[in-house]
Amino acid sequence: MKKKTIAIDMDGVLADVESQIINHYNKAYGTHLTKESIQGLSEDEAFKERELLHGILNKDNFFRTLPVMPDAVESVRELQKNFEIFIVSAATEFPISLAEKVAWLAEHFPFIKWENIVLCGSKRIINTDYLIDDHCKNLDYCMGKPIMFTAFHNINQTHHLRVNNWKEAVAVLNETL
Ligand SMILES: [Mg+2]
Repeated sequence: MKKKTIAIDMDGVLADVESQIINHYNKAYGTHLTKESIQGLSEDEAFKERELLHGILNKDNFFRTLPVMPDAVESVRELQKNFEIFIVSAATEFPISLAEKVAWLAEHFPFIKWENIVLCGSKRIINTDYLIDDHCKNLDYCMGKPIMFTAFHNINQTHHLRVNNWKEAVAVLNETL
């Protein structure tokens, strides 16, 4: 039988972009933001200096050096047994990130083949059975079943099925088999 397909977002789902931005932002701006202090804020509210944030996100090696989310590697490997996995990232927003994201995946997720890496703009064209993502701008318009991965900016959004971590994501998806 054909395996069901899952599209998995990178930033905020496989890669801990939150910690990386906080570190860079605090260093550059002398703030003392923490993961706890930005819970429930939008990205604009959490990182008020938009120019500074833009500079951070466009810096060489920002995406290449992102920490991996806890349990992400083992969980994707586990899901791969029963699902076809596609890594789907709206990477063209930050052109410098394209090569860095491919290199990051090769280092941390070498079991994902190049055919299953989709670096794109809008995710509205993604037609997998499931999409795991942290942003409503993607989840609200995907063709398959949306699964919201908890992030500081989405904790007050309640209209999608939510998973708080990778262990929960695997449990929810394996239950569909
Ligand atoms: Mg994301």
